[in-house]
Amino acid sequence: MKPLPISGFTIGHIQVKTQFLRPEPQNILGSLKALRDKEFLPPVPVWCWVIEHPLGIVVVDTGQDELARSNWFGRTQTRIHYRPADRLAAQMMRAGVDPAQVRTLIFTHLHIDHDRGAGDFPEALLLASSTEIRQYTSPFAALLGYSPPVWAKPPQEVSFGGPALGPFAVSHDVYGDQRIMLLPTSGHTAGHLSVLIRQPEVDVLLAGDLTYTQQDLLTGRLGGFLTAPASQRQAMEKVRQLASAKPLIYLPSHDPESLTRLQNAETLPLA
Ligand SMILES: [Zn+2]
Repeated sequence: MKPLPISGFTIGHIQVKTQFLRPEPQNILGSLKALRDKEFLPPVPVWCWVIEHPLGIVVVDTGQDELARSNWFGRTQTRIHYRPADRLAAQMMRAGVDPAQVRTLIFTHLHIDHDRGAGDFPEALLLASSTEIRQYTSPFAALLGYSPPVWAKPPQEVSFGGPALGPFAVSHDVYGDQRIMLLPTSGHTAGHLSVLIRQPEVDVLLAGDLTYTQQDLLTGRLGGFLTAPASQRQAMEKVRQLASAKPLIYLPSHDPESLTRLQNAETLPLA
């Protein structure tokens, strides 16, 4: 088996508040404190990933755009650094990859820094977890931090009918060859998923916002709006178990070091 080439693009940068990234206490009360926190952390990247599979290019997340600023959460709880030239489709074209060739677009979740720009891929089949789509289309969507859709057609719902994969009881196999596997990693949102790319020597996990950094996974620190801290902890533990069975490059969506680790094939250092 040949490794599937993976490229990373940052769709500008985003700043969040200290108490949002590192809630204290590590539960919903800690997250609510973020609403009154005035202190913003330095900008972090918004990573999107492009995987070249023989059956068609796969994109994982499409990042933010100027519309993200019109969302209440985006406007009051973040500072968004985005220029039109940062748009994923524009960057792919500059890198020589035609966005019209994208066959599958996967959302780790549907927050405003992960699903904007999706309308630039009209030919692609969009995939998100069924739980995520249920939350996204609920009457409480705006309160949960979601913005109205920007895609041409709604995503197909992934309900994880696939086989167990290590510590994960279920999975979803994107192309039926067990190379690109979707794993349920709920916690950051109820329907959050991660994308495992199975390579010959070292696997790669596109982890979305399961944690904000690799260090947070190693130390067990939770980040984000902690509505389901127990689920988030469970998912983090499963990823650590996955990495102890086979070397794993762990790539969260906002870790400044994610692309460097991918390029240097730096695996998760487990004790
Ligand atoms: Zn995010």
